[in-house]
Amino acid sequence: MKSVDTILHGRWVLPITENDPILENHCIVIDDGRVFAILPSTQARQEFSATIETHYDNHLLMPGLINAHTHSPMSLFRGICDDLPLDEWLNGHIWPAEAKWMSDEFVNDGSQLAIAEMLRAGTTCFNDMYFFPEVTARLARDIGIRACIGLIAVDFPSVWASNANEYIDRGLELRDKFRSDSLIHTPFAPHSPSTLSDEALCRIRVLADEMDLPVHIHLHETAGEIEHSMQTWG
Ligand SMILES: [Zn+2]
Repeated sequence: MKSVDTILHGRWVLPITENDPILENHCIVIDDGRVFAILPSTQARQEFSATIETHYDNHLLMPGLINAHTHSPMSLFRGICDDLPLDEWLNGHIWPAEAKWMSDEFVNDGSQLAIAEMLRAGTTCFNDMYFFPEVTARLARDIGIRACIGLIAVDFPSVWASNANEYIDRGLELRDKFRSDSLIHTPFAPHSPSTLSDEALCRIRVLADEMDLPVHIHLHETAGEIEHSMQTWG
């Protein structure tokens, strides 16, 4: 009989594999930090002994959910005028609120709340884009949730950086700090074509190619943004 670290028995196990089978009365065998086997609980009892064995008699066990687009500190802005068109919401309310309230402390509190809510709902990885990304990166690492922390860039000044080049440079410093961290990834996060010049977007494109980093961007969220972009850039 093989000794392993952990066995989690579930009423159902959903491994997210081809054809999405739902396995009943199965268990997940974990050893050395990795899933070693998924098999019927009755069979596991004959093949494995575990240091920790837990039964989830009314639960479905499945991989963690991934939130592919977050601005986690904005959990503190939840509900602010959220029934308005995007332009009006951003320009008239959110950006003024950010100019007034933004700080590392704001980001710390907002990200902490968002991460707690995500973990409670089964989200184990999030793809974030916001100011003070080093604060969210540090929190995610300390709490133990996997995160893509975007290297944010916009053309307008904030308390975090004053122009696109400074955003990019500060982002690169952050990337260097976390490049060997197994939980934290750092894609480029140019905010959008409407808040960045083509010059800044080109610099990011070159760096992304050179460093083999992905790019996370709001790419034309509304018909109005497409129209404006066509008029400005052709
Ligand atoms: Zn967004």
